[in-house]
Amino acid sequence: MKKALKEDGLEAESHPGHVLFEPWTVETKTGGYYKVYTPMWRAVRGRDVGAAEPAPSSLSPPDSWPESEALKNWQMGRAMNRGAEVCHPHQRVGEEAAQGRLGWFMAHAVGDYRQHRDLPAEDGCSGLSENLTYGEISPRQCWHAGWRAVQEGGKGAETWLKELVWREFAYHLTYHSPRIADRNWREGWERFPWNDNEDRKAVLRWKQGRTGIPFVDAAMREMYVTGKMHNRARMIVASYLTKHMLTHWRIGQRWFQDCLTDWDPASNALGWQWVAGSGPDAAPYFRIFNPDTQAEKFDPDGTYRRRWIAEGQERPPKTALTFFDAVPKSWNLSPDDAYPDAPLVGLSEGRARALEAYEDRDF
Ligand SMILES: Cc1cc2nc3c(=O)[nH]c(=O)nc-3n(C[C@H](O)[C@H](O)[C@H](O)COP(=O)(O)OP(=O)(O)OC[C@H]3O[C@@H](n4cnc5c(N)ncnc54)[C@H](O)[C@@H]3O)c2cc1C
Repeated sequence: MKKALKEDGLEAESHPGHVLFEPWTVETKTGGYYKVYTPMWRAVRGRDVGAAEPAPSSLSPPDSWPESEALKNWQMGRAMNRGAEVCHPHQRVGEEAAQGRLGWFMAHAVGDYRQHRDLPAEDGCSGLSENLTYGEISPRQCWHAGWRAVQEGGKGAETWLKELVWREFAYHLTYHSPRIADRNWREGWERFPWNDNEDRKAVLRWKQGRTGIPFVDAAMREMYVTGKMHNRARMIVASYLTKHMLTHWRIGQRWFQDCLTDWDPASNALGWQWVAGSGPDAAPYFRIFNPDTQAEKFDPDGTYRRRWIAEGQERPPKTALTFFDAVPKSWNLSPDDAYPDAPLVGLSEGRARALEAYEDRDF
């Protein structure tokens, strides 16, 4: 972009800050880029990161504004029923809100982050992904706050810094091998027999949070209402789609892109390929999350599932009911419907089928 602007005689400067380390500045000993996360973490852990740059003191508007359409004329909310209204209370918008949240997280939650980060019913993570996505907070500000907490003895702080480096890892991979964005990073996986027909009823049921697997369904509804989904839940719904349902990860990736307010091209692509097994530093193919076992471990008293699934509850909480206000009318869903009495794909049947397909692959 800079080159094109300069060729047109315009002044162009770039200011680093969307990532902690520019991708070309982190190299392996042999001069390549990191394809495995842990050595990258070791390489960057002790590096200096500059302070975030100050906001520009003035921005001059153009002499005349170009013709433009009014956003409201695009009627983007039309298919959403009351979606925008439902999502709104769950968004933390803007720089001030992001700084406030970072301060809250450092004061109250980072100490227990290692224990609480996997519990979707708890407010145990920073919740800053959306602000990082839109540049409302700099990863440098997060990094320095995290290191201060490490120095003050904050136990979970280093674990949190490691998560920030997962974001870096995703961006560096995207820079060095852009194919990760929409193709299997490991080329052999192009031949894997994932079903890539998005119009199937089964895919719709996954999107609607009606697979009959409560942890999966709670998570899909959480995303529809809040625009976000807990990280543990993202791994579980992605595993159910790609492994139990043997469906192409790109279908899930696209649905996340549609629904997430923290959508990030690099982290989303890496997350999906990590779960599916086709990514650089991926979960081994035989790692098939069992959503029921995961629920017992990470949502032992069912709080998260009750928060999002209304069907079958005498007095469902507001969160669970708002899902029905948010979904398109064409889905024709009501909290009075019966919850699916059988799973879309049974857990042991799906696991056996996935293992067979993964073991039969010829690459
Ligand atoms: C299938 C799948 C899809 C995902 N899609 C996205 C996406 O579109 N946008 C997105 O920001 N994250 C994505 N993630 C990563 C992760 O789920 C979210 O970053 C995290 O849930 C955000 O919550 P938080 O801000 O409270 O994170 P915290 O736990 O507080 O972590 C701090 C920050 O570190 C970064 N981070 C944390 N975990 C990861 C991770 N696994 N990969 C990359 N960065 C991470 C995020 O920027 C996050 O805000 C995806 C993960 C999976 C498995």
